[in-house]
Amino acid sequence: MIVFDLRCGNNHVFEAWFGSTEDYEGQSARGLVACPICDDRVVEKAVMAPAIGLKGNQQAHHLARKEELRTLALMQAELESRCDYVGDRFVDEARRLHAGRSSGGPDRTCPNETPCSEPAPQRGIIGEATIGAALDLIAEGIAVAPLPFRSRHRADA
Ligand SMILES: [Zn+2]
Repeated sequence: MIVFDLRCGNNHVFEAWFGSTEDYEGQSARGLVACPICDDRVVEKAVMAPAIGLKGNQQAHHLARKEELRTLALMQAELESRCDYVGDRFVDEARRLHAGRSSGGPDRTCPNETPCSEPAPQRGIIGEATIGAALDLIAEGIAVAPLPFRSRHRADA
């Protein structure tokens, strides 16, 4: 068995085990190697400084960096699971959601059988916007933030 550090199209770095280098190349060519975080099938061997020859602190730094990226990617995956992907309609949807929240619109009804005063938890949205459009939203008081990685929902990802 041999372990490789692989990197997907969204820059997630992960480890995968293969019987041999040929095994990896064969599986990768057939699109069988998928990123565990975003399921991207476009993976390549991450260019890593070889562990041998690295000083202890460099190696620790390298591992810490990899762990940070992984944590960030997992946070995004968790966030995406709690949001609806709206693609290019993001700017319109953000304004619509914001207007609905300010006016206490129908989105705020309680889902319980015995209604309570708690507003229903609302799902967030993820989508595409130009930087200019995102800045416009922020100026309007609508909270938006960029994702660290490309969304796994993007069709052209
Ligand atoms: Zn990935």
